[in-house]
Amino acid sequence: MNILIMGPAGAGKGTMSESILRQYDIPHISTGDMLRENVRNHTKLGEEAKSYMDAGKLVPDDVINAMVEDRLKQQDCEKGYLLDGFPRTLVQAQAFEKIEESTGKHVQCVLALEVEFDALCERITGRRVCPKCGAIYHTATKPSKIEGVCDVCGGPLQQRKDDTVEQLKVRMDEYEKSTKPVIDFYEARGVVTHIDASKSRDLVFAQVQETLEKIR
Ligand code: AMP
Repeated sequence: MNILIMGPAGAGKGTMSESILRQYDIPHISTGDMLRENVRNHTKLGEEAKSYMDAGKLVPDDVINAMVEDRLKQQDCEKGYLLDGFPRTLVQAQAFEKIEESTGKHVQCVLALEVEFDALCERITGRRVCPKCGAIYHTATKPSKIEGVCDVCGGPLQQRKDDTVEQLKVRMDEYEKSTKPVIDFYEARGVVTHIDASKSRDLVFAQVQETLEKIR
């Protein structure tokens, strides 16, 4: 299965991806997670990406395209992929089209998660993440058992630097300007499913599952 999951910051791409992985045996490729790992490890790529990420801006297309192409060449992607957070610009979508042609792995489904701005603000400001294992929490709706400690691996929970209302506004502007046209691009291919992601995790996943069963 070759799937893209798209949506503004806080729409629940990470959370839905966790649910999808439990059910379907494909690798989860999140460009945001890959970049954050590079920042943590102080790689050249990480150093280059950090200032854009901290400002809520998009990292340049050529950096991202090369990173994704490398990742998709790895063996676990033979079974397909769940790409989260890519492509985010039309230039990335066009570069990805070339990768699709060379690998023969064409996108079968684009899950477009949709949530109103006020709800996104609530989700983003309460979000806490475990940098060690990637688990995601929310101070109000999904708190960890011990405050500030990951239930899964015991690591210290953190708030992402870009999870503030100010950065959310910047990221929403980027989304409207750069990423909405990508959804239109896939709309023309007839592979987009719009998902009302303002509901509970179970209800959103039910819509996702109904869509994915059609391409399984
Ligand atoms: P995310 O975790 O998907 O919200 O991504 C966090 C940040 O990483 C974004 O605000 C961007 O700075 C950067 N980023 C992730 N994916 C991309 C992409 N496909 N193109 C450009 N920048 C990206």
